[in-house]
Amino acid sequence: MNDKLGIVKHYVLTLARQRRRNRAALEKWQERRILRHIAAVRQASPFYGELWANYRDREWRDFPVIDKTVMMEHFDRLNTAGVSREAALEAAAIAERTRNFKPTVGGTTVGLSSGTSGSRGLFLVNPREQAAWTGTVLAKLLPRALWRKERLAFFLRANSNLYESVQSGRLQFEFFDLLDPLERHVERLNDYQAGIWVAPPSILRMLADARLAGRLAVQPHKLVGVAEVLDPLDRQIIEAAFGQPVHQAYQCTEGFLGATCHLGTMHLNEDIVHIQKEYLDEQSRRFVPIITDFSRTSQPIIRYRLNDILTEADKPCLCGSPYTAIERIEGRCDDILYFPHAEHGGAVAAFPDFITRAVIAASPEIAHYKVVQHNWHQLEVSIQLSSSASDEKVVHEGVSSELARLLERIGCSLPELVFKPYSFVPGNAKLRRVERRFKL
Ligand SMILES: [Zn+2]
Repeated sequence: MNDKLGIVKHYVLTLARQRRRNRAALEKWQERRILRHIAAVRQASPFYGELWANYRDREWRDFPVIDKTVMMEHFDRLNTAGVSREAALEAAAIAERTRNFKPTVGGTTVGLSSGTSGSRGLFLVNPREQAAWTGTVLAKLLPRALWRKERLAFFLRANSNLYESVQSGRLQFEFFDLLDPLERHVERLNDYQAGIWVAPPSILRMLADARLAGRLAVQPHKLVGVAEVLDPLDRQIIEAAFGQPVHQAYQCTEGFLGATCHLGTMHLNEDIVHIQKEYLDEQSRRFVPIITDFSRTSQPIIRYRLNDILTEADKPCLCGSPYTAIERIEGRCDDILYFPHAEHGGAVAAFPDFITRAVIAASPEIAHYKVVQHNWHQLEVSIQLSSSASDEKVVHEGVSSELARLLERIGCSLPELVFKPYSFVPGNAKLRRVERRFKL
């Protein structure tokens, strides 16, 4: 660990800020922080300086909104670390190929987000930000762990400096490569006896199945899902297998955006990012976040639209935190399915969660599912049943009638359904249970 003091400082700061209870005071404090941050970024980043040329700092809420495409296009002039996109991509590619996980350019750590090819994002983190990130993550997810002996099992697609800094005297951390087979994970977990497991939900689900089958003997005391949407079906099975809630960290290339409190409710990290809600559907409280991170300086993220669908909780969390409570992170906007309206033919949106709920409701025999929309008129549905004794035909009919009911409710008719056997190998790709594979 290169900056223990920095980590401890941010750990303590984060915990102190978590004790705040007053929303109005939080917003005032945020505004001051943002103004200070924006003044500095305007000076340091030529891209933002030009973008905001006609605005004053206090008009930051009106600054043009950017997204991943804009960020990648202007990467060289946007970041303040003097790292070119070419150099960053090269360092990340070499690190990934040789699996030596030390990609840095001039002292700045480079990361490459997972994601579909072509849409992978680059991120830069300097040593100060790295220490701040580690301290914040530890405080939010393991609020007492820094002072205790703990063993952590981290499941990651590729290691990086960012994660390695979690290693420290009392905290023991072990890296599990997502590309390893399940049997190896089981063997190592049985040996290593980690109390805290941090993994994508698809891996936690595999481990839950291994535990239910009696192959995995260890019992963690905390489970944290990262990097994938936590599907309600997976959540139910994992929680039943381990007898405890699945916590979540909402972390992406763009920042550390949320974490669950001790009650298991996801809260936005409004002590480091400001999140504006761009509503997709006010009635169901679904929104796309526009984020302004006031803690990062090497790659400033200001008025940046994420491609995620979040649902705000309908009531405050009982933990008393003033940070916005989120009911569910539903996945990417690209995975909203669209169907032609039965009468006027216009596109009608079906949120991924609508599809999930309909499929799960069809039968308690469903162990895994995946729904892919290839075009307007066809849905591919893959199902794996929990027992070979169950009648596949009956389940398929159930799925068909649940989906028909859902589509009727939103004014559309049921498209052609193509049933296929389910298959998914966790590790290489992220699990998306509802996916759209055509452009509108
Ligand atoms: Zn809470």
